[in-house]
Amino acid sequence: MGLFDRFTQKKICDVCGEEIGLFGNNKMADGNVCDKCMNKKSPWIRFGKDKTVAEFKEHLEYREDNAAALASFEPTKTIDTDYNIYINENNGDFIVTNVSNWREKNPDIFNLADVTGIEVETTQSRTEEKTKDKEGKSISYTPPHYTYSFKFFVVIHMNHKYVHEVRFCVENTAAQIKVIGSREPNTATSASYSATQRKATSVKIEMNKVKRALENRKVAAEKPREKVICPVCGGTTVPDASGCCEWCGSPVG
Ligand SMILES: [Zn+2]
Ligand SMILES: [Zn+2]
Repeated sequence: MGLFDRFTQKKICDVCGEEIGLFGNNKMADGNVCDKCMNKKSPWIRFGKDKTVAEFKEHLEYREDNAAALASFEPTKTIDTDYNIYINENNGDFIVTNVSNWREKNPDIFNLADVTGIEVETTQSRTEEKTKDKEGKSISYTPPHYTYSFKFFVVIHMNHKYVHEVRFCVENTAAQIKVIGSREPNTATSASYSATQRKATSVKIEMNKVKRALENRKVAAEKPREKVICPVCGGTTVPDASGCCEWCGSPVG
């Protein structure tokens, strides 16, 4: 086989068996996967040469199970950012997605019980604003003018078979602060900075609130119920799920 043959030889996807076009190939440790198959993976992880075709196929089985589970996923709460978080407050299931037709995109269903921590991250970058001299050449101002750009990310750490970190930007439009000279940008006076920061922090607060409520409910449900004397009817009773006397229905705490 000549060198040229090797370049023109058609590659076959080791998952679906279809021929892979010139640019649609994803190399794995021991084979090739076409773009169409690769697009079925979780958006929060990547599969590359460090993974085998078998590992990828196993992941796709998990993705099929996820699609089936998604059919009965009904969110009761939405946290609105550039990525939306849809939560079912009754069982703690949640998804994170930036598309409105999310059912078609098969977002991974996570559970708040598997969340090990939520953090807010800020990234900062700086560009220098230039002006022009008499010949139209781009030059620095004296002192130099800078525009600082800030973005806020929420990072959800997860105890999950495939996804260990869900990281997303709450506002794609960066908060900008203009500074003249070498001083530090004053973030305290920027309305867009504080608004975006609040948005990111509220994701963390809201998610933790639902997580804690579910944990408290679980603790309460697991607490053994003891017999008490009902102060109203005098009967000996094991309070029901809502803490009421089984004989007369009065609350007995
Ligand atoms: Zn394929
Ligand atoms: Zn009673």
